[in-house]
Amino acid sequence: MKITKLTTYRIPPRWMLLKIETDEGIVGWGEPVIEGKARTVETAVHEFSQYLVGQDPRRINDLWQVMYRGGFYRGGAILMSAIAGIDQALWDIKGKALGVPVYELLGGLVRDRMKTYSWVGGDRPADVIDGIRKLREAGFDTFKMNGTEEFGIIESSAAVDAAVQRIAEIRDAFGNQIEFGIDFHGRVSAPMAKALLRELEPYRPLFVEEPVLAEQAEYYPRLAESTSIPLAAGERMFSRFEFKNVFQAGGINIVQPDLSHAGGITECVKIAGMAEAYDVALAPHCPLGPIALASCLHVDFVSYNAVLQEQSIGIHYNKGGEVLDYVLNKEDFKIENGYIKPLPKPGLGVEVDEQRVIEASRNAPDWTNPLWRHPDGSVAEW
Ligand SMILES: [Mg+2]
Repeated sequence: MKITKLTTYRIPPRWMLLKIETDEGIVGWGEPVIEGKARTVETAVHEFSQYLVGQDPRRINDLWQVMYRGGFYRGGAILMSAIAGIDQALWDIKGKALGVPVYELLGGLVRDRMKTYSWVGGDRPADVIDGIRKLREAGFDTFKMNGTEEFGIIESSAAVDAAVQRIAEIRDAFGNQIEFGIDFHGRVSAPMAKALLRELEPYRPLFVEEPVLAEQAEYYPRLAESTSIPLAAGERMFSRFEFKNVFQAGGINIVQPDLSHAGGITECVKIAGMAEAYDVALAPHCPLGPIALASCLHVDFVSYNAVLQEQSIGIHYNKGGEVLDYVLNKEDFKIENGYIKPLPKPGLGVEVDEQRVIEASRNAPDWTNPLWRHPDGSVAEW
């Protein structure tokens, strides 16, 4: 079998799908994207095609190493996201060629169903409480929300109180009937993270995510010393070689590699295995589309330490396109009481609605995140 063609489709709300064709008619789909830089990743994917066209798509390990090591410069958000989407499509082809789901190729199921959680938006407590109520009707009991809006390097007591009050009201409204993680989103500086973690501790969040930015990872063990709240991070780390340093330093209890950013299934299975050796849980990051979600699930279903899967099916967080809009076999993605079953079809298990993808790609907007500023006019982390 030989790879014949790579085609990319940028689609709403902010995603990109990749179709890899072969001379035997088997087609694989991947999702190579960095939110806000889709065109840059698209260029990288097409630059990699020189290493792929004419090659056997089943030699995933070799093609991965060629893409990673063959170009001298390596790593980072753009290149590792391009490799990630290509890698997913190669696994899809291999599974389809052999007639089995990808998790069978990775050693088989380690669990029968995977626990998922839902993002809940809104900056006011009332909006969040309302959002949780609606999602509970759909069977969810685990959620994640932002911890703060713009947050200064040294912030006022009023801002700290507002962030804590918001979480207190949510715990008050639902008691122990729900669990939630709080995403600091890299908006909080190390000293303020220390203060917030202490004040949030009584509300027992499942975890605090990105308590500080990944580039300040040296603070993770120090922050962990000061709190009983489990700390999570990983959506802005792109390879084993970055995760290695975090595992060695300690402090992070849950790693959240993104299957579309950290080198794909090939790399994230290895990151998951490294995490298990350090007694660190796995909760893959996934605010993306159906191929990214399916890739996460294949890793979750073969990783003993996978505890939670992020997903955004039907929450209207993604404006202009929903996760299942581009999927024909929607029934396979059914979430019951917060759990999803292994995708049963060969390969990644996603039947892509190609006509819909082509139509949606015709007028795809260039999504970028908002640019926030502090009251003094300086740039704030989003
Ligand atoms: Mg996050």
